[in-house]
Amino acid sequence: MLEITKIHSIIGLLSADNPIVTSRPYRSPHHSISAKALIGGGRSPMPGEISLAHHGVLFLDELAEFKQNILELLRQPMEDKKITINRLNSMITYPCDFMLVASMNPCPCGFYGSLKRKCICSKKDIQRYLGKISGPILDRIDIQIEVNSIQYDELSSNKLIEKSKQIKQRINLARKIQVERYEKYHFYSNSQMSHQLIEKYCKLDKQSKYILQKAYDKLGLSIRAHDKILKVARTIADLEGVENIKPEHIAEAIQYRSLDKKLWNKFE
Ligand SMILES: [Zn+2]
Repeated sequence: MLEITKIHSIIGLLSADNPIVTSRPYRSPHHSISAKALIGGGRSPMPGEISLAHHGVLFLDELAEFKQNILELLRQPMEDKKITINRLNSMITYPCDFMLVASMNPCPCGFYGSLKRKCICSKKDIQRYLGKISGPILDRIDIQIEVNSIQYDELSSNKLIEKSKQIKQRINLARKIQVERYEKYHFYSNSQMSHQLIEKYCKLDKQSKYILQKAYDKLGLSIRAHDKILKVARTIADLEGVENIKPEHIAEAIQYRSLDKKLWNKFE
């Protein structure tokens, strides 16, 4: 709360009724945002949206509509969880440990791959659109999911689905497991594990190792992606309250990395 409040204070977002920020921030800048407003900057450098989202969520709607050079600026802060802004006579570092959530259409018209309507975009349009999300940016996104549009009869169906309240309980439990596991390291979640700790806490059985090795070769994964898959698999196992990562956890985590391949493969 103190860290978030400090950042909000610098930018003048606190008031007498609201002297301390008590909830996690949620920031959703428009895709026309400037580099300075997103990353931070100015003559006396101010924190940008990435720092205002510190310990919270940074939501980028219509990701492919952002300018590509702006998206590329996210690479370093996503990795380091802090941003240093250099000025002629000064240098300021702001924290920016945010969770990035982003959404985008599969093409400019939005119907590429849809079963319901025909996409009217040219191959070139689609390539340019998807190409805005570079490999290095995608590599840093742990979970990528294709969401199909909802059929009319699904809207009114009484199908039993898990309620948000139940999901929250499950997440809280998984969080608790992680807080206890990492207590002596002074951090609290799987995503914060170092490579050494991944080796310790994400031990795989023979079959899981085989599945991961196949995916690594077939999808041409980076070491970063490899480690992220292990962390996500650890989280899936935690959500189930299971101590050891099983083959199905690894398989599920791998599935979340393949959206880019899936979209691009439709061309080939
Ligand atoms: Zn289209």
